[in-house]
Amino acid sequence: MIIKAKTIITNDKANNFYEDAAILIEENIIKEIGDFDKIKRENPDEEVLDFSDKLVMPGLICAHSHAYSAYARGMSVSKPTDNFFHVLENLWWALDKELTLEDVKLNALTTFMESVQNGVTTIIDHHSGPNAIEGSLSTMADAATDLGIRASLCYEVSDRDGMEKRDLGIAENINWIKEAEKRDDMISALFGLHASFTLSDETLAKCQKAMEEVDSGYHVHIAEGIEDEWETVKMSGKRIVDRLDAYGIFNDKTL
Ligand SMILES: [Zn+2]
Repeated sequence: MIIKAKTIITNDKANNFYEDAAILIEENIIKEIGDFDKIKRENPDEEVLDFSDKLVMPGLICAHSHAYSAYARGMSVSKPTDNFFHVLENLWWALDKELTLEDVKLNALTTFMESVQNGVTTIIDHHSGPNAIEGSLSTMADAATDLGIRASLCYEVSDRDGMEKRDLGIAENINWIKEAEKRDDMISALFGLHASFTLSDETLAKCQKAMEEVDSGYHVHIAEGIEDEWETVKMSGKRIVDRLDAYGIFNDKTL
């Protein structure tokens, strides 16, 4: 396939910039970028996609999303959302408790479709849904595969819904990390942690122990609200990064 474009930004180490040029793609691999006439002459049978009035560039990467929030758009929240705790309690933690596996699939499809429509070809998601934990990440991965988007998925472990849900969350992450290794290279996994203030010392130790089984990193919020820092200092005497660091959370794959 040949893509003809007005402008091409390669975003590689040389940061090359081409005008009125073309990209030659063979079996999903970019083979050449350069002069359209030359590429066409040397590859006369290749299909040409004509974007000669458009900019062509590598896909965007969304480094943190919550696909389940697709349902929050236009939602009216009747309780206060005036600080970080109220936003969590009255919006996100009220919404995510309602999610079934069917919702997880529909939210993922909605978010992933809109991502692709807006140029995002890789999405790193942080999922929650305490009443539909088991199998949620493979459900989302199937949606990503159906749409052809690249996705890194995890489940946010938290103490906020009790120890049973916490343990289901840990198991979902570990099972998913193992499963993702068997999927194609469009799909990958991390271990999700909600935030320091909803994770006890016991939970962090448990997560760290569970991670010994696999080779992965964590995906965790840090001080999304100042309240996370205040609660962490109250609970542990340490600031968030120092506390999580003491549990080995920051390995070279952690986000
Ligand atoms: Zn987030």
